[in-house]
Amino acid sequence: MAAKTPSASATPGDPGASGLWPGRLAAGGSPFDGITARSPRPDLEAFLASPAVRELAQQICEIGRRMWQRAYVDGNGGNLALRVGPDLALCTPTQISKGFMRPEDLCLVDLAGNQLAGARKRTSEILMHLQIMQRQPRAVASVHCHPPYSTGFAIAGVQPPTCLTSEFELTISLATAPYRTPGTPELGRFVADLVDQHNTILMANHGVVAWSHRSVEDAYFKIETLEAYCHTVLIASQLGKPLKRITPAQLQELLQIKQRQGIPDPRYGLEQCEHCLSTEWRPGETCAAAHCAARPANPPPGGEPDEALVQAIANQIKARTMI
Ligand SMILES: [Zn+2]
Repeated sequence: MAAKTPSASATPGDPGASGLWPGRLAAGGSPFDGITARSPRPDLEAFLASPAVRELAQQICEIGRRMWQRAYVDGNGGNLALRVGPDLALCTPTQISKGFMRPEDLCLVDLAGNQLAGARKRTSEILMHLQIMQRQPRAVASVHCHPPYSTGFAIAGVQPPTCLTSEFELTISLATAPYRTPGTPELGRFVADLVDQHNTILMANHGVVAWSHRSVEDAYFKIETLEAYCHTVLIASQLGKPLKRITPAQLQELLQIKQRQGIPDPRYGLEQCEHCLSTEWRPGETCAAAHCAARPANPPPGGEPDEALVQAIANQIKARTMI
């Protein structure tokens, strides 16, 4: 078989490595030169069992264990995928708790979802991961799970407001995909439509999926950050005090740092005032930028903007839970 042993520095997601994973493959710098979806089955099985791929599989198992420990997955729920070649991905199998996987449980698939190697059957949700990777070539890894606070927002149909913490603004670019049956190409298409400008997708009545241009761990960090944020926003909105917002100028600084990190965000290049004039970014907010302070955006009916925001979140959650 033609696969060479990859060095640690060639591992997908190594922030020190130059270029993107697929780009490095195309440039011939891949440690896995010669192995493609069209390679003979014995070569693909040997590739999957090689120490290099086992090391990546071990990383996936470790993230699965962390997801289970934090109760982000339930039963056999959740799944993970990682690009390991121009047309190859490693993924988790179906019918297994993500907390107790072994490297030999993982599967090798092509980018259409056909299983190429591995004893266990690949997850039925692999199509969504592969559609993300095809639509967003920078995505080398993706993680899907059902963390309770984020999924709570996804069930209530409430996308958490922005401009409340620096960590969220620096890490996450969030969008919501409509509900479709898990594992269907239609759901994958809705999610894939959003990954050009967003790295984390709330899936209505289902859960969350995040992708990274670095590693499985980096994709998982986005889920941790979103989950902590949803939890925090819920607590903050119950304290009976106006929420203090990051100003448009402060947000602009965060977006500049975020852009340098290679994280997508549809707000790059917008004027400061456009950040808060948009109800999508800052629902119920009045613009605080000096040059447009006289132009309140979507003035709330009575009360201070932040109080209106707290009320809006509370009302939306209340309205949707009164069945
Ligand atoms: Zn799911």
